[in-house]
Amino acid sequence: MMKPSPPESKKGSCIQTTASPLCPICSSEGDILYENLSDPHAQISGLWRIRNCRSCSIFWLDPRPTANEIPNLYDSYPTHRLPAETGGGGIFNNFKEGLRRGVFHRFHRYPQKKLRKLSFHVGWFLGSTGFYRRRFSRTIHWLNHKNGHCLLDVGCGNGSFLRRMKQLGWEVEGIEPDSRACDVVSQALNVPVHNMPAEEMHKLQKQFDIITLSHVIEHLVDPTFVLQSCFKLLFPGGILSIITPNAGSRGHKLFGPAWRGLEVPRHLQLFTIESLSRLLEGAGFNLLWIRSSTVFDRNIYSESRHLKKKLTDEVQITLAPDNVAALIEGKRGEEIVACAQRPS
Ligand SMILES: [Zn+2]
Repeated sequence: MMKPSPPESKKGSCIQTTASPLCPICSSEGDILYENLSDPHAQISGLWRIRNCRSCSIFWLDPRPTANEIPNLYDSYPTHRLPAETGGGGIFNNFKEGLRRGVFHRFHRYPQKKLRKLSFHVGWFLGSTGFYRRRFSRTIHWLNHKNGHCLLDVGCGNGSFLRRMKQLGWEVEGIEPDSRACDVVSQALNVPVHNMPAEEMHKLQKQFDIITLSHVIEHLVDPTFVLQSCFKLLFPGGILSIITPNAGSRGHKLFGPAWRGLEVPRHLQLFTIESLSRLLEGAGFNLLWIRSSTVFDRNIYSESRHLKKKLTDEVQITLAPDNVAALIEGKRGEEIVACAQRPS
């Protein structure tokens, strides 16, 4: 069997790695699921391996980049390229904003203000179809008006979520390891953005009503420690909201090693509903709900199909229409969305 070659950056400098053969949850030796995987963005050269623990239902990278190499993996990562200013004016954006506000008002009780009447009422109506509700509710982590007062977004990237929640009346703060993104977001929004990796968030001297991690936990060197830190930084009764790729998805089953969610070598671990539940409960949280979401299935399928074409010409996979998929997928959507509470 072919051994993975020493991973290197595109510029040719070596990426230091460390062996990680043991399950992050139960420490048993996992099975090798895939070998010789390469970076889908071709930023980091080298071949990578994914292991799987059947009893814990978790997947992880072995070997993995050492902790001090992690920043070098994100030189041109999409969320670190964008400035904080997003969206803009124009008829389409104003109409979309009206739809969004209509959904927020109808389903999450945010007050109606400065809304364009027609788009708001259309949004209120279209929200009942489920299509817009699922998309727009996800952008605010399903948080209702007065679910709390202060919110911390871990890995806030370009600050689009912080901007949205500040507009809706929340007092917001962010954590972001990329110093440039920190400066841009804190200046554009005039909110505190702490320049640190999530593994250092326990140093913050403050507690929050809500902590959010959107597509962050799969990148963490020590997800267990970060969840324990979240627990301490939440007020009793506070809420932790997590969105992460679903390794138990239908797309992973269909595309296997070409599944877009693998994202080697930046995703250090990938969860199923079962393994994320176990990790959250192990950190002391009460699970309020955990399920899969199909909102981004089409995007993931499209990119996975493209990756698979590099491996084979025989790709004959069709996807059910969006709302049909939502009804039939159950736990098989491409994202896991979880809401957990620190006990009062
Ligand atoms: Zn295990």
